[in-house]
Amino acid sequence: METSRIPGFYNMTVDERIEMLKKLHDFSDEDIDNIHKKAPLTTDTADKMIENVIGTFELPLGLGLNFLINGKDYVVPMVIEEASVVASASHIARIVRKSGGFTTEAAERLMIGQVQVVGCSDFPAAKEAILQNKEVLLEAANNAYPSIVARGGGAEDLDVRILNEDSNSAYSQMLVIHVYINTCDAMGANIINTMVESLAPIIEEMTRGKVYLRILSNYADKCIAKASCVIPPELLQTGEYSGEEVRDGVIHAYEFAASDLYRAVTHNKGIMNGIDPVVIATGNDWRAVEAGAHAYASRNGTYSSMTVWSKDEYGNLVGELELPISVGIVGGATRVHPLAKFAMNILQVKSAKELAQVIVAVGLAQNLGALKALATDGIQKGHMALHSRSVAVAAGATGEMIDIIARELIKEKQIRVGKAKELVEQYTK
Ligand code: NDP
Repeated sequence: METSRIPGFYNMTVDERIEMLKKLHDFSDEDIDNIHKKAPLTTDTADKMIENVIGTFELPLGLGLNFLINGKDYVVPMVIEEASVVASASHIARIVRKSGGFTTEAAERLMIGQVQVVGCSDFPAAKEAILQNKEVLLEAANNAYPSIVARGGGAEDLDVRILNEDSNSAYSQMLVIHVYINTCDAMGANIINTMVESLAPIIEEMTRGKVYLRILSNYADKCIAKASCVIPPELLQTGEYSGEEVRDGVIHAYEFAASDLYRAVTHNKGIMNGIDPVVIATGNDWRAVEAGAHAYASRNGTYSSMTVWSKDEYGNLVGELELPISVGIVGGATRVHPLAKFAMNILQVKSAKELAQVIVAVGLAQNLGALKALATDGIQKGHMALHSRSVAVAAGATGEMIDIIARELIKEKQIRVGKAKELVEQYTK
């Protein structure tokens, strides 16, 4: 996408937005038909994806705009049922692009496969046997999935830990082997599971123990993506709040989340408000990303804020987010769900690493959107105004009535279904 800055997109009709997207991108009529005329995910395809299918369940697909990341523009597809998330991400991305955009990186891309060995008569000797035969094991893992090796990936390293060696219970004594696997552009669950399952008989022979679990870890702490932004205070000025006040409010809000579990959970939920929609839109496994992200937020022993906000020597607001993001641009549903393919096409990422970086940038933007609102007017003002149309629909409004009633709800400062029902009754009399 040449630019992600599309002025007035919010006020366009859906058809006008589609026309705009067509102009910016080389989409075929069939692509476009797929997103809003035909049922994009047919029951037939769904029936191939999971079991006991009886239909499909749709969610809104919106576009996060204004994202400038490492100097490249991204229009970000976001699938979410909650009002105000897409608007807030786009609002913050617009502020951040004025100060040079987000900076991101993703250093390594190694996923972890775990093998559990129990019942060894001598755990230290078993550990030593694994380490002595490291190369044999790595070769065996790679032989179980040669195509990923041909792509430049595969099992690269392993290590071993003994858990609960001094325990009185034989159930809790175990050897845990970690195999570090480069899964290239796939999330890699199936690749990893195939590899570690293939190692079980060899490991049993080497350790004289019994292998039980053989599966990837969703704590992908060798698959970290980082995003940061630096914002001069003048870009943060909001209503009667000065930029410095907003900056300080954001830092106070961060310190609250960094020190209090009750706040940290809500703070991080707000970050996942940005992350999950992109993970879902691109057909990736959001439970895997959620589980890894929340665990990473506890890496120092206490569950805490996923982001860090501070002030630099020039008075700028500095934001940072680093998380394990195990996503792929191939595999899973990424190439099966027609809208995931379409979303990938809009996003124009060339690798899983690049996708992970976009995802953390959106998470950071979303966090600032929430903190900025909380530190100024409060979350309800903007959120409820954007939620008003859903409230009107929930009260039974249809067609042109929806916008009329939503406007009335905002004017009367009563964005409630009860009030909307009264208005629907008056309107339909
Ligand atoms: P797949 O097995 O669907 O796809 C990966 C395959 O894509 C590779 O094995 C490779 O096969 C092919 N491929 C094509 N191009 C590339 C490339 N550039 N880089 C890497 N691979 C490429 O998916 P994953 O292994 O990624 O597994 C993800 C799925 O597993 C998700 O749906 C997830 O929900 C699910 N899952 C998750 C679990 C968890 O998180 N705990 C557990 C179990 C499953 P080839 O080389 O043969 O062409």
